[in-house]
Amino acid sequence: MNIQMVDLRTQFEGIKEEVLSGFQSIFESGAFINGPMVKNFCESLSQYLQVAHTIPCANGTDALQAALMALNFSPGDEIITTPFTFIATAEVITLLGLKPVFVDIEPQTFNIDVRKIETAITPKTRCIMPVHLYGQCADMESILAIAEKHNLYVIEDNAQSIGATYTFSDGRKQMAGTMGHIGCTSFYPSKNLGAYGDAGAIFTNDDALAQALHMIVNHGQKEKYTSDVIGINSRLDSFQAVVLHAKLKKLPEYITARQAAAAFYDEAFTNIDALKIPFRSENSTHVFHQYTLITDLNRDDLRAHLSAHNVPSMVYYPFPLHLNKAFAYLNHKKGDFPVSEHMALQTISLPMHTELTPEQLKYISSTIISYCTKK
Ligand SMILES: *Cc1c(COP(=O)(O)O)cnc(C)c1O
Repeated sequence: MNIQMVDLRTQFEGIKEEVLSGFQSIFESGAFINGPMVKNFCESLSQYLQVAHTIPCANGTDALQAALMALNFSPGDEIITTPFTFIATAEVITLLGLKPVFVDIEPQTFNIDVRKIETAITPKTRCIMPVHLYGQCADMESILAIAEKHNLYVIEDNAQSIGATYTFSDGRKQMAGTMGHIGCTSFYPSKNLGAYGDAGAIFTNDDALAQALHMIVNHGQKEKYTSDVIGINSRLDSFQAVVLHAKLKKLPEYITARQAAAAFYDEAFTNIDALKIPFRSENSTHVFHQYTLITDLNRDDLRAHLSAHNVPSMVYYPFPLHLNKAFAYLNHKKGDFPVSEHMALQTISLPMHTELTPEQLKYISSTIISYCTKK
């Protein structure tokens, strides 16, 4: 059985005609960058997310960088974020001369622990950057309340949870990436809405921020050859927009397929003591960018067993950011963020994509269970 972490080849079959005919029309029109395809895709995405503005850019890392640039922070300003994420989240903070201030995660959702945010706030804090990890929203109601109380901005890193819905305690629903002042996403091929190359987008409901972001991703230009601010060059090409538009139409279907695969895994593992299945938060749907188990088994040994049976697995992320050499200058040490450190050692992510068949799911779960019940 050929099992992959992410199967983009099979998924392509379902969008092949639309993608190839879209590509053909780009070759014929010559509008390779920021053409009508890009505009159409952004309009559809804004509509899907119920957000006023979608600003396209070249990748998720640029989206985060542009968001920070748009808020006009000063060198040394502090940005609160999580150490249990992909490096990009904190990398752009440092790159802009700002200071990442890590706050540990809570053990059930792997998202920033809102009970620990306020003690990390100083007179230099300007912004909170939560990450909606693995497909589920952070506790946005609490984050927005803390931000309002302390007059802080909120930038959501929504690279992993596009399509997740958050429900506030008054019943109001909003989609991941549209609740903070700015939301950012990545369309890296393996993301839930993935291009066939690099791509990203920025979301906001604020007209002035939208205008600033459009300028920033285009060399700070409002009009051609007149730059008002220092910007970056970060554009979405038309080919990626065609792919993304075709996939956006299927995103609800893709999410349902991921949730069905997760439900299958849940059921298979629910009685296995050595495995803890993913927690479902009360306020957020889960779109399963990753299906991640917590285990106290020897993880390397388990992964070797899986690999020997042709079942791939991954660890997201084996080192929390504060223990990466790149952040050594922050002078953190082991033990500073114990929950993140624990999860870095005890989590394992299973194959998760839109094309998993019942036979594959059965094979993967029985391979895992055979290891767990071996002893
Ligand atoms: C993928 C990812 C990014 C970066 O996106 P790129 O498009 O690869 O630049 C940022 N943050 C998180 C949480 C991610 O998963």
